[in-house]
Amino acid sequence: MQENNSNPQDTIGGDAAESAPTNSEDTVAALSCFRCGVCCMKYQVQVDAEEASRIAGYLGLPDDEFEAKFADRRWRGRGFLLRQVDGACVFLDSDLGGKLRNCRIQPVKPKACDDWTPGSNRPECRAGLARDWHLSVNDAGQIEGSEERLRLYMDFLESLRGKIQ
Ligand code: SF4
Ligand code: SF4
Repeated sequence: MQENNSNPQDTIGGDAAESAPTNSEDTVAALSCFRCGVCCMKYQVQVDAEEASRIAGYLGLPDDEFEAKFADRRWRGRGFLLRQVDGACVFLDSDLGGKLRNCRIQPVKPKACDDWTPGSNRPECRAGLARDWHLSVNDAGQIEGSEERLRLYMDFLESLRGKIQ
């Protein structure tokens, strides 16, 4: 995994959406993925040849065409590095005015993406909370903000149920 400035980094992700329990009117415990896509913007995903071939097959492309379209040609390391377009992974789509980001290759996404877990300690998840929902995380790891913003956020999480992809 590479940060999108091409410095070595770790992982990525964005899928399971589960609603979190409400603790009080202005805090929410735990943080589940709310599909902000910040992690898919911050990092470039490294895939090995097997993963690349699997994704190519999913897209109905020959391996060489997949590489030509989706691999970052600047990469000199092992395997491939997925390209970024407009500051995000080439496979990231957005919906609902940009609040909901979807991975176009979710069923075959790279292991690095699968292994990424959201959390209130993640700067990426915190950045997405602040950017999209104007919410923050307190020292106890609880999401906090105005009652109205928390309600909108919880409603959004609820709307994602059954839409996990
Ligand atoms: S492959 Fe999917 S989950 Fe992984 S960085 Fe790209 S858009 Fe995000
Ligand atoms: S930054 Fe966190 S909440 Fe946003 S898509 Fe990634 S894992 Fe999910």
